[in-house]
Amino acid sequence: MTSSARPFLNRRLAEFGTTIFAEMSALAARTGSINLGQGFPDTDGPEEIREAAVRALRDGRGNQYPPGPGVPELRTAVAAHQQRHYGLTYDPDTEVLVTAGATEAIAASLLALVEPGDEVVALEPYYDSYAACIAMAGGRRVPVTLRPHGGAFRLDLDELRAAVTDRTRLLLINTPHNPTGTVLTREELTAVAELAVERDLLVVTDEVYEHLVFDDAAHVPLATLPGMRERTVTISSSGKTFSFTGWKVGWVTAAPALVAAVRSAKQFLTYVSAGPFQYAVAEALNLPDSYFTALREDLRAKRDLLAAGLTEAGFEVFRPAGTYFVTTDIRPLGESDGFAFCRSLPERAGVVAIPNAVFYDHREEGAPFVRFAFCKQPETLREAGKRLAGLRKD
Ligand code: PMP
Ligand code: GLN
Repeated sequence: MTSSARPFLNRRLAEFGTTIFAEMSALAARTGSINLGQGFPDTDGPEEIREAAVRALRDGRGNQYPPGPGVPELRTAVAAHQQRHYGLTYDPDTEVLVTAGATEAIAASLLALVEPGDEVVALEPYYDSYAACIAMAGGRRVPVTLRPHGGAFRLDLDELRAAVTDRTRLLLINTPHNPTGTVLTREELTAVAELAVERDLLVVTDEVYEHLVFDDAAHVPLATLPGMRERTVTISSSGKTFSFTGWKVGWVTAAPALVAAVRSAKQFLTYVSAGPFQYAVAEALNLPDSYFTALREDLRAKRDLLAAGLTEAGFEVFRPAGTYFVTTDIRPLGESDGFAFCRSLPERAGVVAIPNAVFYDHREEGAPFVRFAFCKQPETLREAGKRLAGLRKD
C-alpha cells in the first residue's frame, strides 16, 4: 500500500487523495482478480503502428525534445482526421496542439481558461480528473446530473440551463460519456451549443471515445454545430482509438487564440512528451476507414458479451451506446452501496469494478451504480460473467 497523501496535500487537492483507478487496479493485482475497473484494453493496438514507433525510435525521430506544439507530422494527421471524419478544417500550425494524453489536455485547458472563482459546469458523473483540474485552477465545479431515463443516462436540458450563472466560465462536456456510456444526441448537443452561444461561454469537450460508438448512435463533435467552432476546445487522444493507452499521446483542436492559451499552460506542465510515439500516432490516424469500423465492431461485440453476463448475473444493465464501459445498478442484487460492493467484489467473485459514486458530488445519486470495463478479451469477459453469476448464491 502507498502511504496517505493527506498530511501534506494542500487544501485544493485534499479531497482527491489517490485515484480510484490506481486503488482498484492495485486491488485487482493483490487479489488476482479479473480487472474490469480501469479502462485499458488487454491487447495492444495494430502491429504496424507498434512497428512505426520502433522505427521512429531506431531512426532517431523524437528521441530528443520534439517541438512544443507537437511534431508537424502528427499535427497534420490530427487536422486531416478532423477533416476526414467530421468535415472540420483546422490549421495544423495554429489550431492543433499535441499533449501528454487527453489528461494533460484537460489540465492545460482548465488551467489556462479558468479564473479563480469561475464556475465550470460539468456533466455528473464526471471523469475524475475534471474535478481535480477544476480545483487546481481554483474554479468551482457545478455538476449537472445525468439520470436514468428509458434505459440510459440522459442530460436534463432544463437543469443544464439552470446551472449557468453570471460566474460560469465554461461548459465541460464529455461525449461519448465515461462512465455511463451515453452518447449525447445531436438534439442534446444542439441545445448545449445554443446555450453556449446565448450565454457566451467557452466549451471544453472531451471526445476521447469518439470512435467507440455502437449500433445507430453517432458521435457529433460539438465544434461542428453552429457558432461552436470558435468557442470550443476539442480534446481527444490516441489511447482509446488505437489501444495504446500507455503511450499518452493526446491533442487539442481549437481556434488559434484558444490553442495559444492552452499551449501557455501546457508548456509548463510537460513542455513536450512521447517524441517517437507522436510519429507512430500520425501513422495511426491515417489508417483506412476499415480500421475504425473493425475497432467499433470488436468493442460492440465485447459490450454485448459483458452486458449479457451482467444481466444473467442479476444486475440491471444500462446498455452503453459508446465507450469502454457498462454502468449497472446493483439494487436488483439486494445491494445499495457501490463502494462497499466494489471493495468486497474481489473476495466474493474475483472481479474488480468501479463504484460510480466516485464520479459524483451528489454521492447518494451515484451510490447504487457500478461500472465494468468491457475492453477485454472475450474469454476474460465470459469468465467474469461466470464468476459474477455466483453472487446470487452468496
Ligand atoms: N477523458 C476520459 C473521459 C477518459 O475516460 C480518459 C481515460 N482514457 C481520459 C480522458 C484520459 O485520456 P488519456 O489516457 O489520453 O490521458
Ligand atoms: N480513463 C480510464 C478509465 O476511466 C482510466 C485512466 C486512468 O487510470 N486515469 O477507467
